[in-house]
Amino acid sequence: MFNQLKNDDSILKNLRADCENCFGLCCVALPFAKSADFAFDKDGGTPCSNLQSDYRCGIHENLRAKGYRGCTVYECFGAGQKVSQVTYDGNDWRDNPASAKEMFDVFPIMQQLHEMLCYLNEALNLEDAQPLHRELQAAFEDTEYLTKQSPQSIMDLNVPAHRTIVNDLLLRTSELVRAKVSFKKKKNQKKQNKIGRGSDLICAKLRGADLRGVNLRGALLIASDLREADMRVTDLIGADFRDADLSGADLTGCFFITQAQINSAKGDMKTKLPLSLSIPAHWR
Ligand code: SF4
Repeated sequence: MFNQLKNDDSILKNLRADCENCFGLCCVALPFAKSADFAFDKDGGTPCSNLQSDYRCGIHENLRAKGYRGCTVYECFGAGQKVSQVTYDGNDWRDNPASAKEMFDVFPIMQQLHEMLCYLNEALNLEDAQPLHRELQAAFEDTEYLTKQSPQSIMDLNVPAHRTIVNDLLLRTSELVRAKVSFKKKKNQKKQNKIGRGSDLICAKLRGADLRGVNLRGALLIASDLREADMRVTDLIGADFRDADLSGADLTGCFFITQAQINSAKGDMKTKLPLSLSIPAHWR
C-alpha cells in the first residue's frame, strides 16, 4: 500500500493549491485584520475587494509591494479545489448564495484535514519511518475519507480529536527520523535544552548553528538570524519563520516544512531547500 503513495504525483497535486479550480475561497471565507500582512480589515465570508469575477486576484503580481504579504504565505493544501469541485461539485457560491455561508464554514475545516494529509503523505515517504507505515497509511486513508463527506458531516467533525491522533503519529515519525543524528543531543545537551519544540527563539542569533536532528516543532523563529544554519534532518512542523533570515542555510533533508513557511522568511540563492520546495520570488 505504501508504494501506491510513494512518488504518486496525483496525491501531491491534490495537496497543493490549485487556484484555477477554486472559487477564491481563501479570499472570501477567511477573516483578516489590518496589519503588516493585510492592508485592511475583512470579515470572514466577505469577498476581498481585490478578488475578480473570475476568482483571480487582481494584484497577484504585486501582493507584497501593496501590503498583502499574508496572502503570499497562506497555504490551503488543496482544500480550495476540494471544497469547490468535490464537496460542492463545481457549484460556486456566487450562483448558489443559499449555500455560500455553509461553503465558507466548510473550507477552513477542509484546510485542516488537507494539512494533515500533506504531513501524513510526507511521513509515508520517509524511509526512516518505515516501522510506522501501516499506521500512517491507515491515518491517511481515514483522513481522506473524512474529506469526502457531506458539508454537514464535515462541519460536525471533531477535528481536534482527529488531529491528536495524527499528531501522535507525526511525533513518533519525527523521533524515528531524527534518531540518526541523536548523538547530537548528547553532545550538545546543554544547548538542546534551550532549543527545541515550541522554543521562543524570536530574534535569536543562530547564525551558523548546528540544528541537525533538533525538533523545532512549533518554534517561534520570527526574525531570527539563521544564516548558514545547518537544519538537515530537523523537524520544522509549524515553526514560525516570519522574517527569519535563512540566507545560506542548509535545509536539505529537513521535514514537515511547507512552502508557506519558506515564503514567510528571508533567504538567498545560497539557501538549500528540500527538493519539494522552491526559492520564493522575493529571495531573488
Ligand atoms: S489580496 Fe488577492 S490573494 Fe489576497 S485575499 Fe485579496 S484577492 Fe485574495
